[in-house]
Amino acid sequence: MEEAKLTPAQAQYRAMKEKYPDALLFFRMGDFYEMFGEDAIRGAKVLGLTLTSREKKAENRIPMAGVPHHSVNKYIAQLTKKGYKIALCEQLSDPKLPGIVQRDVVRVITPGTVVEEELLDSAQHNYLVCLTEKNNIIGVSGLDVSTGDFFVYELDNVSRLFDELYKLTPSEIIFVKNQFFALDVLEQVRSRFPDQTTQYANVEDPYEILIRHFQTHSLAGFGVDHLKVAVRSAGYLLTYAKDHQRTDMSHILKLQPSRFEQAMYLDETVIRHLELVRNSYDGKKEGSLLFVLDRTCTGSGARLLYDWLLHPLLVLSEIAERHTAVEALVRDNETRDTLRQKLKNMFDLERLVAKLVMKKGLPRDLLAIAQTLEQGKEIQQILRSVQAPLIDEAATALQSEILDRIIDLVRRSIDPEVTGMTDPGHAIRAGYHAEVDELRSITRDGKTWMAQYQQQEQARTGISTLKVAFNQVFGYYIEVSKGQLSKIPGDYVRKQTLVNAERFITQELKEYEHKVLHAEERLIALEQKILLELQEQILAGVAALKAFADTTARLDVLQSFAQVAIEHHYAKPELCEDGYCHIQEGRHPVVERFLDVPFIHNDLNLSEQYRIGLITGPNMAGKSTYLRQNALIVLMAQIGSFVPAKEARICITDRIFTRIGASDILTRGQSTFLVEMQETANILNNATPKSFVILDEIGRGTSTYDGLSLAWGIFEYLHNVSGAKVLFATHYHELVALAESLPAAFNLSMAVSEHADGVTFLRKVVPGGVDKSYGIEVAKISGLPAAVIQRATTVLESLESRKKQENAASAQLSFLQPQVTETVKIVKQDSEVEKKLSSLDLNQLTPLEALNVLHEMKQGIRKDDSKPPSSL
Ligand code: ATP
Repeated sequence: MEEAKLTPAQAQYRAMKEKYPDALLFFRMGDFYEMFGEDAIRGAKVLGLTLTSREKKAENRIPMAGVPHHSVNKYIAQLTKKGYKIALCEQLSDPKLPGIVQRDVVRVITPGTVVEEELLDSAQHNYLVCLTEKNNIIGVSGLDVSTGDFFVYELDNVSRLFDELYKLTPSEIIFVKNQFFALDVLEQVRSRFPDQTTQYANVEDPYEILIRHFQTHSLAGFGVDHLKVAVRSAGYLLTYAKDHQRTDMSHILKLQPSRFEQAMYLDETVIRHLELVRNSYDGKKEGSLLFVLDRTCTGSGARLLYDWLLHPLLVLSEIAERHTAVEALVRDNETRDTLRQKLKNMFDLERLVAKLVMKKGLPRDLLAIAQTLEQGKEIQQILRSVQAPLIDEAATALQSEILDRIIDLVRRSIDPEVTGMTDPGHAIRAGYHAEVDELRSITRDGKTWMAQYQQQEQARTGISTLKVAFNQVFGYYIEVSKGQLSKIPGDYVRKQTLVNAERFITQELKEYEHKVLHAEERLIALEQKILLELQEQILAGVAALKAFADTTARLDVLQSFAQVAIEHHYAKPELCEDGYCHIQEGRHPVVERFLDVPFIHNDLNLSEQYRIGLITGPNMAGKSTYLRQNALIVLMAQIGSFVPAKEARICITDRIFTRIGASDILTRGQSTFLVEMQETANILNNATPKSFVILDEIGRGTSTYDGLSLAWGIFEYLHNVSGAKVLFATHYHELVALAESLPAAFNLSMAVSEHADGVTFLRKVVPGGVDKSYGIEVAKISGLPAAVIQRATTVLESLESRKKQENAASAQLSFLQPQVTETVKIVKQDSEVEKKLSSLDLNQLTPLEALNVLHEMKQGIRKDDSKPPSSL
C-alpha cells in the first residue's frame, strides 16, 4: 500500500500493525473483526475463512478475512490453541458520529494470558513459563493467569528442564533478551516448542516489579529470595502477563517455591512410557492413567489430580492420610454420592476470581460464586459424619465468615434470574439500591406513560389512529397518517416524513424523553458502578476464596479416588518401608478397562532378598502389560489412590524408572538405539535400592550379539550394583540361566498352552523361565504372507537343529560369561586345531610333513572363522 493512497482507516490499521507486528490484528469494523494482508492469509488458513478483498482492481487488492464480533471468542480459541497472539482493536467512538472512528488495541490475547472459560480447558492448567539462565543455573517461573498460581524453581541440568516442561505443558514460554546465555539450550527449547516460544524485551528490574506487586520489602517471606535466577524470570513473567492483560493481577497472592520439592521425581520418559497423562498413540488423555482415575466433578479437582499424579508422595504418613480419607469415602456411599452432587453444582471458583480481577466478571459470575460457596456450606455439613483427618481438615477449612458474607452480599444484590442474556440495567436485585429502583421505575413506567399519552392525544386531536412510539434513532414521536394531517394541533413539531405518515414531537414528549433516556443511561452506569463495587467487595476475600477452591479441589480428588475404587474394585494398599513389594491379583488399570475379555490378574512378590525378576515368554503373552501394571500400582499407591489388586503391600519407592519400546527422537538427532541406551544409562546411574525399575526388551535395537551382551551386562549391574527392585522382560532366553545363577534374581514366565492349532496365551505369570518366543505363531495371526511364514519356519528349524548339535549352552556361557564361573560350570571344548596339535608326535614328523600339517591347520582356522556363532 502506498502511503498517499491510504484511507484514514487503512492508516489507522497500518499504525496499529506496526505496534503489534507479531500478533494477528483483529480490526473492528462494524459488526466484524477484520484481518488484512499477511494476517488475513494466515488467519484465514487456520480458521478456514474465505479470503476476500475490498478493492476490485487487481493492483490494489489487499487480502481480507473477517469474523463476526459476537462469535469472536470461538475464533480466538482456535488461534491461541495453535500458539497465535491476537491484538484486539476496538472502536472507541460511536461509528454513527461524523468523522473517523477512534480505534485502539484494548488487549493482546496470547495463549498463556487468557482467562475466559471458552478459551480454556477446564481440566488443564494454562501455564505461562519464563526461563532465565545464568552460570548454568536455569531459572523457571510459571504462572497460570486464570487461577493466580505462581511459582519458581531452579534447575542445574537441561534434561530436568525438559522433564519439567513436559509436565507443565506450557501454552507460552518466554525468554527475555540477554537473560539466557546457554544458547544451545535456548535453541533446544525453541525447536521442541516452536509454537510456544516468545522473545520478550523488558527493561525494568524484575525484583522491583515483584515486591511492588506483592507490596513487600523483599521476597523472603515467600521463601524464594535465594532463587535469584528464577526470581528474575518471575518478575519478567508478571510484567508480560500484566502488559497483555492490562490489569493489576491482584489475584496473584504469592510466589511459591516449587510445591513439589518433596515429591517422587518422575522424568519425561516414565510419564510417556507409563502413559500417565497422555496416551502414546495420539497424545490425548483417553487411554492414560489420568483418564481412568479421573472421576472428579470440578475443573480445579481435575487440575489437581493431574498434579498429584505427576508428583507421588514420599512420606508414608502423608500417603496414609490420603488412603484413610479415600477409605472413609469408599465406606460411606451416601456421603460420597451427596458430595459428588454438591461438587458438580459448583463452578470453577479459581477461574471466576481471576475473571473478577481482570474486570471481566459478569453478574452471572457473581451468582456462580455464591452458588459455589453455598455448596461448600452443605458439603461442610455432610462431611461431619466422615471420620478421617484430611476430611475433617477440609470441613473446617470450608467454614469462613468472609465467605458467608460474600454469599449474603451476592444474594441480596444480584437478581437471581440473571443470565448472560439479561439486558443491561436489570442485574441488580430490586430493593438493593434505592436509586436503581427509582430509575428503573421511570424506565419501566415509560410504556404505561406512552399508552396514557397516546390516549390523551387521540382525544385531544380526534385522530383515533394516532400512535405514540419510540425508536433508537428518533427517540419518542407521535405518528399521524397523511389523511389525518389536517387535524394536528399547532404545538406538533414535524420530525420525519414517511410515505403514508408524518412523525411529530411535542414539548411534553421531549421533556419526557429527556427524563427517560437519561434515566436509562444513568441506570446502566449506576448498575455498572454497583457491580464493580460488589466485585471489589468480593475480591477483598480473595485469600479465603482461593483457600476454599484449594480445599474443594482436594476433596474432589479424594472422592474421585474413592469413586474409581468402588467402580473398579480397587483395594487400599498398605505402604511400608521394609523393602517388600507384594501385590496379590494385580491388574493393569488402563488395559482392563479397554478389553472385551476378562483381564487375568497376576501377583508380584519382591523383597530385599529377591529383588530382580526376569520375565520370559512368548510374544503377545502379556509381559509388557505385567511390567507396567506393577509400576502403575506402585505409583497409584503413592499418590493416595487405591490400587487394582486384591491386596497390596508396597514399600515406599523413591523413583520409578522405565525403559520400554522403541522411540527415536529424530528431530533431536537421536536414533532408536541411542535413546534406548541413554534411558538405560539414566536408570543405571540413578536407581537406588529404593527404586522400582522396569525394563522391557532391552538390547532389541541392535544386532543379536550386541543386544544380548548388553542385556546381560545391564542385568548383572542392576543385580550387583543398583540394589533396585527390577522387572526385566526379555526374549533373550540365554538370560534365564543368568537369573538362575544370581542370588537376588529369579525367573518368571508367561504361561501358554500349546495345541495342534497353535498356542493359547494364558496371561498368567508363573515361576521359572522359558526358551521359546512363538514369534512365528504371532506373525501368523498378524497376517504376514504365508510364504514368509513358511520360509521363517524352515529357517527356524534349521537354526534350532544347528544349535542342538553345537552344545549351545556351554558355548554361549563361555563366550558370554567369562567371570561368572562360580555359579555356572563351564565345560571348555578344545578346538579342532588344538585337538590336532595335541595328537601330533613331533618326533615322527619330517619337516615337509610338519609344513603340510601347518597348512591344514591354517585352512581349519579359516573354516572356523566363517561359521555363524554357535548360539544361533
Ligand atoms: P511382546 O513380547 O510381543 O511385546 P508382550 O508379552 O509384552 O508381547 P503385551 O504387549 O503385554 O505382551 O500384551 C499383549 C496384549 O495381551 C495386550 O495388549 C492385552 O490386550 C493382552 N493382555 C496382556 N496381559 C493381559 C492380561 N493379564 N489379561 C488379559 N489380557 C492381557
